[in-house]
Amino acid sequence: MGAVDITYCQMLQSGGIEEGPFDVALIEGAITEEWQAEQLKKVRSVSKFLVPIGSCAVCGGIPAIKNTSKKAKEMEQKVYKDISNLTSLETRPIDQIVKVDGYVKGCPMGERDLTELVISLLLNKQPDFLEYCVCVECKLKNNICVLVAYNEPCMGPVTNAGCNALCPSNNRACYSCWGPIRDSNAKALANQFTKMKLSSDDIFRKFTEFGQPTKEFEAGVK
Ligand code: SF4
Ligand code: SF4
Repeated sequence: MGAVDITYCQMLQSGGIEEGPFDVALIEGAITEEWQAEQLKKVRSVSKFLVPIGSCAVCGGIPAIKNTSKKAKEMEQKVYKDISNLTSLETRPIDQIVKVDGYVKGCPMGERDLTELVISLLLNKQPDFLEYCVCVECKLKNNICVLVAYNEPCMGPVTNAGCNALCPSNNRACYSCWGPIRDSNAKALANQFTKMKLSSDDIFRKFTEFGQPTKEFEAGVK
C-alpha cells in the first residue's frame, strides 16, 4: 500500500482529486445512464491506464438483466410512476464505451487479480491474469463434479477462474458470477443443459444472469 496513492475514491474517503490526472483508473459498476458514459470518457482522457473491476464493469453484471427483459418499461413504470425524467440506457460494460487496458473479473472483484494488476503496473510488466475456467480450480481441489455426479447445471466449464471454485467446493453449481472465459464453448454446455432437460428459457437465463448476452456466451443463448 505504501507504493500507491489513492487520490480519488468516494467509497473510501470524501474529497480527493476528481479531475485527475491518474496513473491508473479502476472503474467499478456498469453504465446505465448517459451522464455516467460522459464521466467515464473524461476519466479515460486523464488516465494512463483504465481497468474495469468487478462483473458489472467487465460484462454488465446483474444490472444487465434488464437488457434481456421485454418488460423493462413496464417495470420502470411500476417503480417510479413518472418515468419522464428517466434517462436509463441499455446497461453496457465499460469496454463498450472506452478503451480498457485489462479486466479484473469477479463479483465481487477478485482480490488476487487486483493485487496482480497493481503490482504488475508498479513493476512495468504484463499482468498474469487467470486464463482458464472454474473446472480447473475444481480439479485442483479434487472436488466432486456436481454436474457429473448430481446432474446440477454448472456453468464452471465456461466461467473464468478466480474464485477458487467456491460454489462447487460447497456442492453447488457455479452460476458464472465471474463472467465468461475467453473462447468458451458455450454451445456445447448449452447442448448439455438441453440433455439435462433444462428449458430454453432456463438456459437463456443461465447465460445472461451475470451480464448481457456477451459475445462469449452468444452461442449458448441461441
Ligand atoms: S463442478 Fe462445475 S466447475 Fe467443477 S468440474 Fe464440475 S462442471 Fe466444472
Ligand atoms: S463458483 Fe461460479 S458462481 Fe460461485 S463464486 Fe465462483 S464463479 Fe461465482
